[in-house]
Amino acid sequence: MSFRWLYFALTASAVLFALADVFVAQPGRTVLTAFGLGVIVFALYLVRRSEYRYYQAREQVINLTEEHERTLLQLKRLERQQQFLMEGLPIPIIICDREAILRYANQTALDWFGFRSLTGKSILALTFSYDLYVLFLTAVQRRSQVVSEVSFSFPVERHAVASIWFLGETDEGERYAIALLDKSELVRLEQVRRDFVANVSHEFRTPLASIRSLAETILQDEAMPRATRERFLNLIIQETDRLTRIANDLLLLSRAESLPPQREQVDLSLLIQRAVDQVRTEAQSRGVSLTTEIQSALPVVANPDQMIQVILNLLTNAIRYNKPEGTIVVRAYMREPNLAVIEVSDTGIGIPSEDLPRIFERFYRVDKTRSRDTGGTGLGLAIVKHIVESHGGRVEVESEYRVGSTFRVLLPLYLTVLSETPNPDLEDQETA
Ligand code: ADP
Repeated sequence: MSFRWLYFALTASAVLFALADVFVAQPGRTVLTAFGLGVIVFALYLVRRSEYRYYQAREQVINLTEEHERTLLQLKRLERQQQFLMEGLPIPIIICDREAILRYANQTALDWFGFRSLTGKSILALTFSYDLYVLFLTAVQRRSQVVSEVSFSFPVERHAVASIWFLGETDEGERYAIALLDKSELVRLEQVRRDFVANVSHEFRTPLASIRSLAETILQDEAMPRATRERFLNLIIQETDRLTRIANDLLLLSRAESLPPQREQVDLSLLIQRAVDQVRTEAQSRGVSLTTEIQSALPVVANPDQMIQVILNLLTNAIRYNKPEGTIVVRAYMREPNLAVIEVSDTGIGIPSEDLPRIFERFYRVDKTRSRDTGGTGLGLAIVKHIVESHGGRVEVESEYRVGSTFRVLLPLYLTVLSETPNPDLEDQETA
């Protein structure tokens, strides 16, 4: 652009020189030459000026491009951060257009609904939840946030609070976000609580009803023979004892659940021995033989009272659900790499395989009458499981119906103490 001026100036001055040469006399020629030179100088000035402006504009364009690139980079970074945020959120986030077609789903949403690629599908096809679909249509209609509880039955049953809100317009149309807050655990716990209250009421109602009717009969029948009266009064005592046992077990369970147990380093073998000594008389009175194979020095960090309770509950069951002339073997040993194992095996009535998964539930009994007759509350194994798990251990059971059962408690050994404890096997080798 700048050279155009130069060409113009040079051509103009050349024309002026030529004209001057041909038509103009000497003094006028000088004036015209001076004018021509002036035109050249002016043209050169214009060239410089336009060049300056050109470079200035170019610099501005370069600056703008750099700024534009920086903004783009910043935008990309922000987009990536937003993406990471959405992907990392532990709640499912879904973005749909106004036709309820999926445009985005984060990783948690993929995990929830078990689809690899979700975009392009309707939320109805994804979630199989008509409730969510209707809620979505309401949000689209109102163009505002709607919140409601919804349930999903696919791929697993879930209860959630769904929140749907308008995100705004994009080049491709409106966008809506759906967030789901999982409430399944809360709903499950609420159900457990309701079942528990119902079970407790039921457990209390039965003995209370029989106490009341026995007392009423005694009261109304003045001519009742002494022997019958005594039998009825004994039944009342038995029922109140049962109520006391249930109340005590409930208290034990609630304490184990609410209080962090005071723990200390204890030798499990000594605790087992103490529990075995406590139940020996009951075993003898029921004609059940009780033998032990307890490895010495099994150090664990535990609450001694709770541990004795665990062993007592297992032993009492092994005695009460045994057969006449039956046997019980209590074993305790170390299992590599760092477990202490307590095993209580009996040759009792056994547990049918269909009942096995439920026996640790509160108030679950295989044979209600037998449990009641032997003084059971249906809470013994629930207490065992709770205490053992709160000590970082686990309970296992193997049973064959009418043959016998083995309950196994596995607890983490306290290894520091273990390494300081003299190993009897090694000592024997050394002396030999
Ligand atoms: P309970 O107070 O009724 O004994 P538990 O929670 O201790 O309650 O046990 C639950 C049920 O598991 C018992 O009612 C019984 O049916 C079954 N059970 C527990 N231990 C044994 C066992 N050693 N042999 C056979 N059945 C058992």
